[in-house]
Amino acid sequence: MVRVRFAPSPTGYLHIGGARTALYNWMFARRHGGQFILRIEDTDQKRTVKGAIEAIMDGLRWLGLDWDEGPDVGGPYGPYIQSRRAALYREWADWLLDNGYAYKCFCTADELKERRAAAKAARGDQSYDRRCRMLSAAEVAAREAGGLPYVVRFKAPTEGATVIPDVIRGDITVPNSQIADAVLLKSDGLPTYHLANVVDDHFMEISHILRADEWISSAPLHLNLYAALGWAHPIYAHLPLVLNPSGKGKLSKRAQAFDDQGRQVLVKVEEFRDAGYLPQALNNFLANVGWSFGGDREIFPIEEAIPRFAIEDINPAPTRLPYDKLDWLTGQWIQMMEPLALARAVRPVLARQGHEVGAEALLAVAPALKVRLKKLTDAEAFLRFLWDDETGGFAAPAADRLVSAKLPADAARRGLQAARDLIAAAQPLDVATLSAGLTAIGESVTANGKAGPFLGALRLAVTGQDVSPPVYESIVALGRARALARLDSVIAKIEE
Ligand code: GLU
Repeated sequence: MVRVRFAPSPTGYLHIGGARTALYNWMFARRHGGQFILRIEDTDQKRTVKGAIEAIMDGLRWLGLDWDEGPDVGGPYGPYIQSRRAALYREWADWLLDNGYAYKCFCTADELKERRAAAKAARGDQSYDRRCRMLSAAEVAAREAGGLPYVVRFKAPTEGATVIPDVIRGDITVPNSQIADAVLLKSDGLPTYHLANVVDDHFMEISHILRADEWISSAPLHLNLYAALGWAHPIYAHLPLVLNPSGKGKLSKRAQAFDDQGRQVLVKVEEFRDAGYLPQALNNFLANVGWSFGGDREIFPIEEAIPRFAIEDINPAPTRLPYDKLDWLTGQWIQMMEPLALARAVRPVLARQGHEVGAEALLAVAPALKVRLKKLTDAEAFLRFLWDDETGGFAAPAADRLVSAKLPADAARRGLQAARDLIAAAQPLDVATLSAGLTAIGESVTANGKAGPFLGALRLAVTGQDVSPPVYESIVALGRARALARLDSVIAKIEE
């Protein structure tokens, strides 16, 4: 049974690197009919940000990565927030103490700092010097009796080596001399990441750990903890490091990341959403980072990737996030969308930009959007003519912009007047009705009997924009009343 987890710390938002980790776990779970679990690792309360759990869940929901167990949906292995599981970690810290795998350490923060500084000056090993590991039972008892606070540290093996069996990288051998006696339980009785992570993965029956490669350095400690506890460890797969778009330097985990040229790069999933990227495109993009669909196929719905997904095929090499590819993929995805789906996707984006546009109006212009948009946010400029006249920018175009040699002023005026009457009476006001009627008007007013120049002028007359959706769609989207009002003001201008 495959059970995997995404275990973010609630430090504020879903990071693009975290989204990649979540996606790969999710694909793996779905591939094997297993469970994808969301677990919140909030053992570091100082770094915990209010509202962060919601923000992470929103990001996952937007990407469509649904979880089977988690803080909100519950599940048989809950609670899924570590701060609610403190008693369990305490119990296993005690077990490790009782069985000689851990010890109480009374060194104070100041003492540790001093000794670290000295070790640094002497260019020696700066990890904990194991002083309290050497204390006798009597010495420990005396300190405890004196009420001294303590942390619980793991007795890491000092000889030999630990092998991390990693599905993506093969065996990674680490000399045990490099493993420090890590703190498992802090002086306030709360666990560190290491203890909570191991205890939870065991009791939540996690089968595979797919996580960022920065955690490789913690794996030897975790493996030794599993061994001490007598538990089988999950299968490890450390995902490739994610680099900046330029390929130079690792992508920062901070909320604000910069490339090697000092330019800011997007890192929060919510920023990608607000910038008009599609979740389908972002998943597609992330699936291509370190894994490949095969057959050189770059564009695919994530559902099609699931049956092909295998951890063994992930490339361990650090990989850059090619944001230019994301732009391209988003454009491709928009072109593949059904008009209704596109209208639905664009609507909340426009709403965030401050424009409430009706579903009907968006549906009318969706085919035009499809071929035009590179990102959903591009709709704003293209559809500017749809906002209220005061805020959006409809200014009746000057008469000389409408008339031309092929469409003299008088012809323009007559044509627009006829169009006005037709729009006033059209039943229903749809593209088919408008196209038949308006084309005939155009052919009757132009000198050469071709409707083109007239339809161009009409489009400009109702939208006021040099670039906009085609004329019929624009009129339908505007609605009868606004289209008529605009034509009236344009006709008045020509008459002047
Ligand atoms: N809480 C860790 C993180 O924020 C999880 C690491 C792991 O998956 O073991 O990435």
